[in-house]
Amino acid sequence: MLKGIPVSDGIGIGHVRIIKNKDVKFEDKAIPENEIDNELERFHDAVKVFCDRTDKMAKEMEKSVNPKEAEIIKGHIQMISDPFMISQIDDQIKTGVCAEKAAATTLDQFIEMFSSVDDELTQQRATDVSDIKKRLLRILLGIEEIDLGTLPPDTVIVTKELTPSMTTEIKKENIAGIITEKGGITSHSAILSRALEIPAVLSVPEITKILRDGDMVIIDGREGDVLPDPSDNDIRNYEKSKADFIKEKEYLDTFIGKDTVTADGYRKEVFCNIGNPKDGVTAVKKDGEGIGLFRTEFLFMDKDSAPSEEDQFNAYKKVAETLGGRTVIIRTLDVGGDKDIPYLDLKKEDNPFLGYRAVRYCLGHKDLYKVQLRAILKASAYGKIWIMIPMVTNVYEIRQVRGMVERIKTKFDAEGIPYDKDIKIGAMIETPAASLIADILAKECDFFSIGTNDLIQYTMAADRGNADVAYLYKPYFPAVLRSIKNIIECGKKEGLVVGMCGEGARDPMLIPLLIAFGLDEFSVSPTSVLAARSCISRWSMNEAREVADKALSLPTYIEVEEYLKSIVRK
Ligand code: PEP
Ligand code: MG
Repeated sequence: MLKGIPVSDGIGIGHVRIIKNKDVKFEDKAIPENEIDNELERFHDAVKVFCDRTDKMAKEMEKSVNPKEAEIIKGHIQMISDPFMISQIDDQIKTGVCAEKAAATTLDQFIEMFSSVDDELTQQRATDVSDIKKRLLRILLGIEEIDLGTLPPDTVIVTKELTPSMTTEIKKENIAGIITEKGGITSHSAILSRALEIPAVLSVPEITKILRDGDMVIIDGREGDVLPDPSDNDIRNYEKSKADFIKEKEYLDTFIGKDTVTADGYRKEVFCNIGNPKDGVTAVKKDGEGIGLFRTEFLFMDKDSAPSEEDQFNAYKKVAETLGGRTVIIRTLDVGGDKDIPYLDLKKEDNPFLGYRAVRYCLGHKDLYKVQLRAILKASAYGKIWIMIPMVTNVYEIRQVRGMVERIKTKFDAEGIPYDKDIKIGAMIETPAASLIADILAKECDFFSIGTNDLIQYTMAADRGNADVAYLYKPYFPAVLRSIKNIIECGKKEGLVVGMCGEGARDPMLIPLLIAFGLDEFSVSPTSVLAARSCISRWSMNEAREVADKALSLPTYIEVEEYLKSIVRK
C-alpha cells in the first residue's frame, strides 16, 4: 500500500494511464557541424510525424464530431508545411542551433507577429501557431501525445501534476481516480480534482515510475491510500466502501434546498469557491448560497495574453447573473507564488511565496489591474458583486485599491456607465501581518475572508506544497487557531461579514470552532456544500463554545487534533 495526501473524497477502482506532463522544456544544446545533417533530418521527420498525426486526427473529427474543427486542424498541416517557415527553421539549424530551439524561436516570431495585428482572424492564427509549437516540440522531445478526451471508462490518471488544461480535456465520467507526484491539499491539482468530483491522492513519491499503463489500482481519496495490484478480496472490500460513500452522498442530498443553521438556529451561509463562469453554474446546482471566492487568475491561465476588459466583464457578469442576486465575491488577480502566468513576465524569485505576488504585483502593474477593476465594476450592475483583495499585509494596500476604484467610479459616472455604487471592498486575511492588525484593517474594509491555505503556511513558515513540512501545515496548531479567532473577533467587532474561503471552512474538526468564534460564511468547493451544511447543523452554539474553549486550552497540535477527532467521531 502506498500513501499520499488525500484531497478528493471517494474510492476509485480502475486501470492506470500514465500522463506525461505537457512540459515542453528543452535543453538548448549546440549542434556540432558533423551532426547538422542529422539534426535537419530529425526536424523534418518530426514535421512529417506532425502532419501524419494531424491528418489522422482531422479524419476522425470529420467522421464524428465537427467537420469545422477538422478544417481548423487541417489548416495546421498547411501552416507547418509553409516553405518560408520551414526554411527559416532550417537556416537556424544550419548554424548549429538544435531543432527544438530553432522551431521554438521561429514559431514564437510568427506568434508575436500574428498577435500584434488587431484583427480577430489573424489573432486566431497566433493561437493556432502556438498549438503547433507545443505539439511539434512534444514530438521532437519524444513526449507522447495522449488524447485525454478518449481515455476509456475506469481510467486512473497517474501524472506528476494535474494542470487546468488537462482537466478541460478529460471526460469526467471515464476517470475513476487521479494520482499525482506533486501537490498538497490546497494545490491546484487538489482544487481541480475536487471540482470534478474525482477521487484523488496527491504527493505519492515516484508514482509515475512505480505504476505502469494498464496496471489495476485502487485509490482511496479519503485516506490517501493507493493500492497497486489489488487482490479479489481487496476489490470486494473497496467496492463496499464505494457503496457506503454513495449512501452517505444520498444522506447529504437531504440538505439540498435547506437553510444553513446551527442546531440552535443561528443562521450561517455556505458559499462556493469557483475558478470560472461554468463553476458558477455548478455552485448553484450544488446549492451554494453565494460565491465566497472567484479565483480570477484562472481566467488568465492557458492564454498567450491577458483577457481583455470585455472578456473579463462577460465572465464576471455571467457569474453575477447565474447567482441571481446572491453575493459573488470576486478576488482580484492572485498571481505569483505557485501561480505562474508566463506572459506576465514574473521574475524567477528565490522565495516566490514571499515575493512579488497578488496585490503587490497588481499595484505595480496598474494598467493591468485597472482593466480588471473596470470589468468587475461594470459587471456589478448585473448582480451583487464584492471585490476582494488577496495577500493584504497593510492598510495602504486597501487604500490604494479603494483609490483606483473611486477614480473608475468617477469616470463611469461621467460616461453614464452603470455600476453598483455601494460595491463592497474587502480583504483576504491570509498573512500573519493582516491577522495581527485585523482590528485596524476592519476599520478600512467592508468584509473579511480568511484564506487558511496561505494563513497556515505563513503562520507556520511551512510551504503549503512541500510534503516534508506537511506535518507543520495544519490548522490545529495553537498559533493558527488563535490567529483565526482574532481575525473573526476583530471583524465582528466592527460589524463586518467574516467568511473563510480557505480549505479550513470545510473541515468538520474546525467547524465547531469557527461557529464558536462567530464566522458568518463558509466558502467551500461546490462539491462540499452539503457536507459543510450538514456538519454546521449538528452543533449548537453552547456545544461549539465548549469544544473551542477546550481546544484553545491545549498546548500542542497533536492534543488539539486528537481531541477534535474524538469529538467528531462521537
Ligand atoms: C487561501 O489562501 O486560503 C485561498 C483561499 O487562496 P488560494 O488557495 O488561491 O491561495
Ligand atoms: Mg491564498
